Amino acid sequence: MAKHEARKRFGQNFLHDLSVIDDIVRALDLQRDDKVVEIGPGLAALTRPLSERLDHLNVIELDRDLAHRLRNSFSPKKLSITEADVLTVDFAQWGEGLRIVGNLPYNISSPLLFHLASFAHLVKDQHFMLQREVVDRMVAKPGSSDYSRLSVMLQSRYRMFKLFDVSPEAFDPAPKVVSSIVRMRPLPEDRPQAKDVALFEQLVASSFAQRRKMLRGSWSKWVALIPWDDVGIEPTARPGDVSVQQFIAVADALTAQGVTG
Ligand code: SAM
Repeated sequence: MAKHEARKRFGQNFLHDLSVIDDIVRALDLQRDDKVVEIGPGLAALTRPLSERLDHLNVIELDRDLAHRLRNSFSPKKLSITEADVLTVDFAQWGEGLRIVGNLPYNISSPLLFHLASFAHLVKDQHFMLQREVVDRMVAKPGSSDYSRLSVMLQSRYRMFKLFDVSPEAFDPAPKVVSSIVRMRPLPEDRPQAKDVALFEQLVASSFAQRRKMLRGSWSKWVALIPWDDVGIEPTARPGDVSVQQFIAVADALTAQGVTG
């Protein structure tokens, strides 16, 4: 088959380091009947070993040339190909217990993580290769300079573990940044969650829009309604010091006073 020229606009950096591929596949600890969806199979660096270990594999690929190659290389009995932009894909079509994996196109990583959050109740786990900087923000705890809106929003829905880093040389073409593998497991349905999710999201977004600003400033329109002592936050604190639970507590206190998101 003719060589595929990597397309920058689709975030194409193809894995070619066999030991990294092996480490990723081992981290997945697959059972043959697992229901796996791979995002962005590309030239099948992960798809091939995944498919060998599974009865069936589902993949989502936007690039029609790559989707065509996959169709020529795999039997439809082994591989189902959804040729689409993953941001438009309804993951509910595969039912429950999904295991989602992918060396993701980095240019859409945040919108993709938020898109997938709406299907978290159907997901068993997610393993992704992302820019290390993004993974560091996802898993960051309060007090860290990486703690951000992404940390709070994702940690309110998932337990996350950074597994290992992957150097640029593992890819062709090599990206400019180091990558990391992250494991995400949805929290159970009885997890602490805000009564008004839209308000919680608004509160978190407004806090981190100016992360150096004190909360009494960022939350000026709600300042008189927040029971600061009860939620254990100083009005002079900055968002980087507030835990996920505390953001939920503030949102719920506002909801109790009739504020809506
Ligand atoms: N999995 C392959 C590997 O590890 O070598 C390819 C990884 S490459 C970083 C990202 C892949 O995602 C490419 O195959 C690209 O065409 C595909 N892709 C990019 N944007 C996409 C989108 N919006 N929806 C689905 N796939 C997309």
